[in-house]
Amino acid sequence: MKKISIVVPCHNEEASIPLFYKTVNEITETMKKKADFEFIFVNDGSTDKTLHELRNLADKDQRVHYISFSRNFGKESAMYAGLESSTGDYVTTMDADLQDPPSLLEEMFTILETEEYDCVATKSTNRKGYSFLRKFFTKWFYKVIGKISSIEMVPGARDFRLMTRQMVDAVLSMQEYNRYSKGLFSFVGFDTKWIEFEIEERVAGKTNFNFGKLFSYAVEGIVAFSTAPLVFAAIVGFVFCLIAVILITIIITKTLIWGDPVGGWPSMACIMFLVGGVQLFCTGIIGEYLSKTYLETKKRPIYIIKETEKNKRKNVI
Ligand code: UDP
Ligand code: MG
Repeated sequence: MKKISIVVPCHNEEASIPLFYKTVNEITETMKKKADFEFIFVNDGSTDKTLHELRNLADKDQRVHYISFSRNFGKESAMYAGLESSTGDYVTTMDADLQDPPSLLEEMFTILETEEYDCVATKSTNRKGYSFLRKFFTKWFYKVIGKISSIEMVPGARDFRLMTRQMVDAVLSMQEYNRYSKGLFSFVGFDTKWIEFEIEERVAGKTNFNFGKLFSYAVEGIVAFSTAPLVFAAIVGFVFCLIAVILITIIITKTLIWGDPVGGWPSMACIMFLVGGVQLFCTGIIGEYLSKTYLETKKRPIYIIKETEKNKRKNVI
Protein backbone atom coordinates (compact mmCIF):
# COMPACT_ATOMS: atom_id res chain seq x y z
CA MET A 1 0.00 0.00 0.00
CA LYS A 2 1.23 3.50 -0.79
CA LYS A 3 2.00 5.94 1.99
CA ILE A 4 1.05 9.62 1.91
CA SER A 5 2.88 12.16 4.06
CA ILE A 6 0.91 15.25 4.98
CA VAL A 7 3.23 18.19 5.67
CA VAL A 8 1.67 21.07 7.56
CA PRO A 9 3.58 24.28 8.40
CA CYS A 10 2.11 25.92 11.49
CA HIS A 11 2.70 29.34 12.93
CA ASN A 12 0.35 30.37 15.72
CA GLU A 13 -2.33 27.90 14.70
CA GLU A 14 -3.49 26.67 18.12
CA ALA A 15 -7.13 27.15 17.13
CA SER A 16 -6.84 25.67 13.64
CA ILE A 17 -4.86 22.52 14.44
CA PRO A 18 -7.63 20.51 16.19
CA LEU A 19 -10.07 21.42 13.41
CA PHE A 20 -7.51 20.58 10.75
CA TYR A 21 -6.69 17.23 12.32
CA LYS A 22 -10.36 16.34 12.70
CA THR A 23 -11.15 17.12 9.06
CA VAL A 24 -8.09 15.46 7.59
CA ASN A 25 -8.48 12.45 9.84
CA GLU A 26 -11.89 11.85 8.34
CA ILE A 27 -10.33 11.89 4.89
CA THR A 28 -7.67 9.40 5.95
CA GLU A 29 -10.47 7.17 7.30
CA THR A 30 -12.30 7.17 3.99
CA MET A 31 -9.04 6.47 2.16
CA LYS A 32 -7.70 3.88 4.57
CA LYS A 33 -8.15 0.99 2.14
CA LYS A 34 -6.10 2.83 -0.46
CA ALA A 35 -3.23 4.42 1.43
CA ASP A 36 -1.40 4.76 4.74
CA PHE A 37 -0.81 8.21 6.16
CA GLU A 38 1.65 10.14 8.28
CA PHE A 39 1.23 13.69 9.50
CA ILE A 40 4.25 15.95 9.78
CA PHE A 41 3.40 19.17 11.54
CA VAL A 42 6.11 21.80 11.63
CA ASN A 43 5.83 24.30 14.45
CA ASP A 44 7.49 27.37 13.04
CA GLY A 45 8.33 29.29 16.21
CA SER A 46 4.75 29.80 17.36
CA THR A 47 4.18 32.00 20.37
CA ASP A 48 0.80 30.48 21.25
CA LYS A 49 -0.12 26.92 22.30
CA THR A 50 0.55 25.35 18.89
CA LEU A 51 3.31 23.12 20.26
CA HIS A 52 1.05 22.00 23.08
CA GLU A 53 -1.61 20.98 20.56
CA LEU A 54 0.96 19.09 18.51
CA ARG A 55 2.27 17.21 21.54
CA ASN A 56 -1.30 16.16 22.36
CA LEU A 57 -1.90 14.93 18.84
CA ALA A 58 1.36 12.99 18.78
CA ASP A 59 0.38 11.31 22.06
CA LYS A 60 -3.02 10.39 20.69
CA ASP A 61 -2.11 9.27 17.20
CA GLN A 62 0.96 7.24 16.22
CA ARG A 63 0.86 8.64 12.71
CA VAL A 64 1.45 12.17 13.95
CA HIS A 65 5.01 13.51 13.95
CA TYR A 66 6.04 17.02 14.67
CA ILE A 67 9.11 19.18 14.32
CA SER A 68 9.37 22.29 16.42
CA PHE A 69 11.78 25.03 15.37
CA SER A 70 13.96 27.03 17.74
CA ARG A 71 12.38 30.22 16.36
CA ASN A 72 10.26 31.44 13.45
CA PHE A 73 12.07 30.60 10.21
CA GLY A 74 9.19 31.28 7.84
CA LYS A 75 6.77 29.08 5.94
CA GLU A 76 9.27 28.16 3.25
CA SER A 77 11.71 26.74 5.79
CA ALA A 78 8.87 24.91 7.54
CA MET A 79 7.82 23.28 4.28
CA TYR A 80 11.41 22.30 3.55
CA ALA A 81 11.81 20.69 6.99
CA GLY A 82 8.53 18.84 6.55
CA LEU A 83 9.46 17.53 3.12
CA GLU A 84 12.88 16.51 4.38
CA SER A 85 11.53 14.34 7.17
CA SER A 86 8.66 12.89 5.16
CA THR A 87 8.90 9.19 4.32
CA GLY A 88 5.83 8.66 2.14
CA ASP A 89 5.66 7.59 -1.49
CA TYR A 90 3.55 10.67 -2.02
CA VAL A 91 3.83 13.92 -0.12
CA THR A 92 1.28 16.66 0.21
CA THR A 93 1.78 20.14 1.64
CA MET A 94 -1.23 21.77 3.26
CA ASP A 95 -1.87 24.95 5.22
CA ALA A 96 -3.19 24.43 8.72
CA ASP A 97 -6.08 26.85 8.29
CA LEU A 98 -8.19 24.60 6.00
CA GLN A 99 -8.34 27.26 3.29
CA ASP A 100 -7.52 24.46 0.87
CA PRO A 101 -10.10 21.67 1.01
CA PRO A 102 -8.47 18.37 2.11
CA SER A 103 -11.41 16.60 0.47
CA LEU A 104 -9.51 17.01 -2.83
CA LEU A 105 -6.82 14.67 -1.58
CA GLU A 106 -8.57 11.51 -2.74
CA GLU A 107 -9.01 12.86 -6.25
CA MET A 108 -5.39 14.00 -6.34
CA PHE A 109 -4.20 10.60 -5.17
CA THR A 110 -6.27 8.82 -7.83
CA ILE A 111 -4.79 11.05 -10.54
CA LEU A 112 -1.23 10.23 -9.50
CA GLU A 113 -2.03 6.53 -9.28
CA THR A 114 -3.80 6.22 -12.59
CA GLU A 115 -2.43 8.94 -14.85
CA GLU A 116 1.07 9.82 -15.92
CA TYR A 117 1.57 12.80 -13.68
CA ASP A 118 4.21 13.41 -11.02
CA CYS A 119 2.33 16.11 -9.22
CA VAL A 120 -1.19 17.39 -8.77
CA ALA A 121 -1.21 21.06 -7.83
CA THR A 122 -4.11 23.31 -6.98
CA LYS A 123 -5.04 26.84 -7.86
CA SER A 124 -7.90 28.88 -6.52
CA THR A 125 -10.47 30.53 -8.71
CA ASN A 126 -11.23 33.18 -6.10
CA ARG A 127 -9.39 34.90 -3.26
CA LYS A 128 -12.01 34.85 -0.56
CA GLY A 129 -10.85 36.13 2.79
CA TYR A 130 -8.06 38.30 1.38
CA SER A 131 -8.12 42.09 1.34
CA PHE A 132 -8.70 44.16 -1.80
CA LEU A 133 -5.15 45.53 -1.67
CA ARG A 134 -3.69 42.06 -1.42
CA LYS A 135 -5.75 40.79 -4.36
CA PHE A 136 -4.69 43.80 -6.42
CA PHE A 137 -0.97 43.42 -5.75
CA THR A 138 -1.06 39.64 -6.14
CA LYS A 139 -2.60 40.03 -9.56
CA TRP A 140 0.12 42.47 -10.60
CA PHE A 141 2.87 40.39 -9.11
CA TYR A 142 1.89 37.41 -11.28
CA LYS A 143 1.67 39.62 -14.35
CA VAL A 144 5.16 41.01 -13.77
CA ILE A 145 6.86 37.77 -12.82
CA GLY A 146 5.14 35.99 -15.71
CA LYS A 147 6.83 38.43 -18.08
CA ILE A 148 10.31 38.53 -16.58
CA SER A 149 10.88 34.96 -15.50
CA SER A 150 11.44 31.96 -17.72
CA ILE A 151 9.94 29.76 -15.01
CA GLU A 152 6.19 29.35 -15.23
CA MET A 153 4.36 30.90 -12.28
CA VAL A 154 0.69 30.01 -12.25
CA PRO A 155 -1.58 32.80 -10.99
CA GLY A 156 -3.70 31.70 -8.05
CA ALA A 157 -1.41 28.72 -7.36
CA ARG A 158 -1.71 27.43 -3.81
CA ASP A 159 0.92 25.59 -1.82
CA PHE A 160 -1.50 22.64 -1.60
CA ARG A 161 -0.16 19.89 -3.84
CA LEU A 162 0.51 16.15 -3.91
CA MET A 163 3.86 15.04 -5.28
CA THR A 164 5.68 11.81 -5.94
CA ARG A 165 8.77 10.96 -3.89
CA GLN A 166 10.90 11.53 -6.98
CA MET A 167 9.71 15.12 -7.28
CA VAL A 168 10.08 15.77 -3.55
CA ASP A 169 13.68 14.55 -3.71
CA ALA A 170 14.31 16.89 -6.62
CA VAL A 171 12.92 19.84 -4.63
CA LEU A 172 15.02 18.84 -1.63
CA SER A 173 18.15 18.67 -3.76
CA MET A 174 17.91 22.44 -4.15
CA GLN A 175 19.32 23.60 -0.88
CA GLU A 176 19.26 27.32 -1.43
CA TYR A 177 18.72 29.52 1.58
CA ASN A 178 16.33 31.98 -0.08
CA ARG A 179 13.51 29.64 -0.92
CA TYR A 180 10.61 30.60 -3.10
CA SER A 181 8.78 27.28 -3.37
CA LYS A 182 6.32 28.22 -6.06
CA GLY A 183 9.33 28.80 -8.31
CA LEU A 184 11.25 25.77 -7.05
CA PHE A 185 8.34 23.41 -7.74
CA SER A 186 8.13 24.81 -11.21
CA PHE A 187 11.90 24.72 -11.71
CA VAL A 188 12.23 20.99 -11.05
CA GLY A 189 9.88 20.29 -13.93
CA PHE A 190 7.99 16.97 -13.95
CA ASP A 191 4.41 16.70 -15.16
CA THR A 192 1.97 18.67 -13.09
CA LYS A 193 -1.79 18.55 -13.37
CA TRP A 194 -3.56 21.68 -12.15
CA ILE A 195 -6.95 21.43 -10.56
CA GLU A 196 -9.10 24.37 -9.54
CA PHE A 197 -11.21 24.95 -6.50
CA GLU A 198 -12.85 27.75 -4.56
CA ILE A 199 -10.83 28.82 -1.61
CA GLU A 200 -12.43 28.90 1.85
CA GLU A 201 -11.99 31.46 4.56
CA ARG A 202 -9.64 30.58 7.39
CA VAL A 203 -11.31 28.26 9.95
CA ALA A 204 -9.70 30.04 12.88
CA GLY A 205 -6.90 32.43 13.74
CA LYS A 206 -5.67 35.10 11.40
CA THR A 207 -3.33 35.37 8.43
CA ASN A 208 0.40 35.38 9.13
CA PHE A 209 1.19 37.47 6.09
CA ASN A 210 0.85 41.21 6.43
CA PHE A 211 1.59 43.57 3.57
CA GLY A 212 5.29 44.00 4.43
CA LYS A 213 5.88 40.24 4.63
CA LEU A 214 4.11 39.65 1.34
CA PHE A 215 6.07 42.40 -0.34
CA SER A 216 9.40 40.92 0.67
CA TYR A 217 8.11 37.48 -0.39
CA ALA A 218 7.32 38.94 -3.81
CA VAL A 219 10.79 40.50 -4.05
CA GLU A 220 12.26 37.15 -3.04
CA GLY A 221 10.38 35.45 -5.86
CA ILE A 222 11.55 37.95 -8.43
CA VAL A 223 15.18 38.01 -7.32
CA ALA A 224 15.30 34.20 -7.10
CA PHE A 225 13.81 33.53 -10.52
CA SER A 226 14.68 36.46 -12.75
CA THR A 227 17.66 38.63 -13.50
CA ALA A 228 15.54 41.01 -15.57
CA PRO A 229 15.70 43.81 -12.95
CA LEU A 230 19.51 43.89 -13.41
CA VAL A 231 19.09 44.26 -17.15
CA PHE A 232 16.48 46.93 -16.48
CA ALA A 233 18.98 48.83 -14.29
CA ALA A 234 21.59 48.64 -17.02
CA ILE A 235 19.13 49.83 -19.66
CA VAL A 236 17.99 52.77 -17.52
CA GLY A 237 21.66 53.70 -17.03
CA PHE A 238 22.25 53.55 -20.77
CA VAL A 239 19.18 55.67 -21.57
CA PHE A 240 20.26 58.31 -19.08
CA CYS A 241 23.75 58.40 -20.63
CA LEU A 242 22.17 59.00 -24.04
CA ILE A 243 20.01 61.79 -22.64
CA ALA A 244 23.11 63.32 -21.03
CA VAL A 245 25.03 63.29 -24.34
CA ILE A 246 22.12 64.99 -26.11
CA LEU A 247 21.73 67.58 -23.35
CA ILE A 248 25.47 68.33 -23.29
CA THR A 249 25.47 68.88 -27.05
CA ILE A 250 22.47 71.23 -26.84
CA ILE A 251 23.93 73.19 -23.90
CA ILE A 252 27.36 73.60 -25.50
CA THR A 253 25.81 74.72 -28.79
CA LYS A 254 23.50 77.17 -27.04
CA THR A 255 26.37 78.60 -24.99
CA LEU A 256 28.55 79.05 -28.06
CA ILE A 257 25.77 80.79 -29.99
CA TRP A 258 24.06 82.88 -27.30
CA GLY A 259 26.75 83.21 -24.63
CA ASP A 260 26.36 82.01 -21.06
CA PRO A 261 23.47 83.69 -19.28
CA VAL A 262 23.08 82.45 -15.70
CA GLY A 263 19.77 80.71 -15.36
CA GLY A 264 18.09 77.36 -15.51
CA TRP A 265 19.06 76.29 -11.99
CA PRO A 266 15.56 75.00 -11.11
CA SER A 267 15.66 72.60 -14.05
CA MET A 268 19.21 71.67 -13.05
CA ALA A 269 18.07 70.85 -9.52
CA CYS A 270 15.23 68.72 -10.90
CA ILE A 271 17.61 66.79 -13.14
CA MET A 272 20.00 66.19 -10.25
CA PHE A 273 17.22 64.80 -8.09
CA LEU A 274 15.94 62.61 -10.89
CA VAL A 275 19.31 61.20 -11.84
CA GLY A 276 20.28 60.77 -8.18
CA GLY A 277 17.04 58.90 -7.56
CA VAL A 278 17.45 56.63 -10.55
CA GLN A 279 21.01 55.83 -9.51
CA LEU A 280 19.98 54.91 -5.99
CA PHE A 281 17.10 52.81 -7.31
CA CYS A 282 19.40 50.88 -9.62
CA THR A 283 22.03 50.46 -6.92
CA GLY A 284 19.22 49.16 -4.71
CA ILE A 285 18.32 46.53 -7.32
CA ILE A 286 21.92 45.40 -7.53
CA GLY A 287 22.13 45.45 -3.73
CA GLU A 288 19.12 43.15 -3.52
CA TYR A 289 20.86 40.51 -5.66
CA LEU A 290 24.12 41.01 -3.83
CA SER A 291 22.47 40.55 -0.43
CA LYS A 292 20.85 37.30 -1.56
CA THR A 293 24.21 36.08 -2.85
CA TYR A 294 25.77 37.08 0.47
CA LEU A 295 23.20 35.06 2.40
CA GLU A 296 23.68 32.04 0.12
CA THR A 297 27.46 32.05 0.53
CA LYS A 298 27.16 31.86 4.30
CA LYS A 299 25.44 28.47 3.97
CA ARG A 300 23.42 28.96 7.10
CA PRO A 301 20.96 26.18 7.95
CA ILE A 302 17.46 26.63 6.53
CA TYR A 303 15.96 25.74 9.93
CA ILE A 304 17.00 24.66 13.42
CA ILE A 305 15.05 22.05 15.35
CA LYS A 306 14.42 22.38 19.06
CA GLU A 307 12.03 19.51 19.66
CA THR A 308 10.35 16.60 17.87
CA GLU A 309 7.99 13.91 19.14
CA LYS A 310 11.06 11.73 19.72
CA ASN A 311 12.77 14.10 22.11
CA LYS A 312 9.68 15.56 23.65
CA ARG A 313 10.33 17.64 26.69
CA LYS A 314 9.08 15.99 29.86
CA ASN A 315 6.81 17.64 32.39
CA VAL A 316 5.73 20.47 30.24
CA ILE A 317 2.16 21.42 29.57
N1 UDP B 1 3.11 29.77 8.30
C1 UDP B 1 4.31 29.31 8.83
N2 UDP B 1 5.28 30.22 9.14
C2 UDP B 1 5.13 31.57 8.94
C3 UDP B 1 3.90 32.00 8.39
C4 UDP B 1 2.93 31.08 8.06
O1 UDP B 1 4.50 28.11 9.01
O2 UDP B 1 6.04 32.33 9.26
C5 UDP B 1 2.04 28.78 7.96
C6 UDP B 1 0.69 29.05 8.60
O3 UDP B 1 0.60 28.49 9.88
C7 UDP B 1 -0.27 28.38 7.63
C8 UDP B 1 0.43 28.59 6.29
O4 UDP B 1 1.79 28.86 6.58
O5 UDP B 1 -0.41 27.00 7.87
C9 UDP B 1 -0.18 29.72 5.48
O6 UDP B 1 -0.23 30.90 6.27
P1 UDP B 1 -1.47 31.88 6.26
O7 UDP B 1 -2.75 31.11 6.23
O8 UDP B 1 -1.30 32.82 7.40
O9 UDP B 1 -1.25 32.64 4.91
P2 UDP B 1 -2.31 33.16 3.87
O10 UDP B 1 -3.35 32.10 3.68
O11 UDP B 1 -2.87 34.41 4.47
O12 UDP B 1 -1.50 33.40 2.64
MG1 MG C 1 -4.24 30.86 4.89
